[in-house]
Amino acid sequence: MKIQKSTGCFLYVICIMGRYYYGDIAGKYWVAIQPSNCMVNYGAQATKCYQYKECGCRVELEENLNSYCSECYDSFEEHKEDIHEDDEDDEDDELYQELEENKYRISIDVFDMYMKPVIERKSEWFNSIAELTFNKDEHYEYDIEFKYENMLFNENDFADYCMMLQIKKYFDETNNDICEWIGDD
Ligand SMILES: [Zn+2]
Repeated sequence: MKIQKSTGCFLYVICIMGRYYYGDIAGKYWVAIQPSNCMVNYGAQATKCYQYKECGCRVELEENLNSYCSECYDSFEEHKEDIHEDDEDDEDDELYQELEENKYRISIDVFDMYMKPVIERKSEWFNSIAELTFNKDEHYEYDIEFKYENMLFNENDFADYCMMLQIKKYFDETNNDICEWIGDD
């Protein structure tokens, strides 16, 4: 599955079909089972995402929140005037707005401390239920093959386990020590 965040068509699909995450790892959250912030329970950090008004560029760092988009404007005033020209009702002094998504981040140290023990403890249980295959070219998106039909198991734990395996795969196969992704709220 290709995830193209920028097309209107895809945004429409999100509205009717669920929530996605993309970045170093990518996939779809389990509908009605897996909350977007599920990995926070295992040590991942969440930060809000912001976007500059008018030009739509992303605000990357929280320290930047009082500033203007220096990519598109020469000054705070210029950016502000541009916003007010298009939207006279906008009396906010803020030149950015919150997006309906969060950025998640986990370091390999925190992974080793909190996720790895869970993965090891539950591996026998997980392996008795299913097997995952990962697509390296699609940010380690996974496919599940269940071993039996009509099994009963804790889907919350299972979904979280799948995502942790994805993160493990990312760390195993890259030299990076940080794994980051953005998830829809
Ligand atoms: Zn901009």
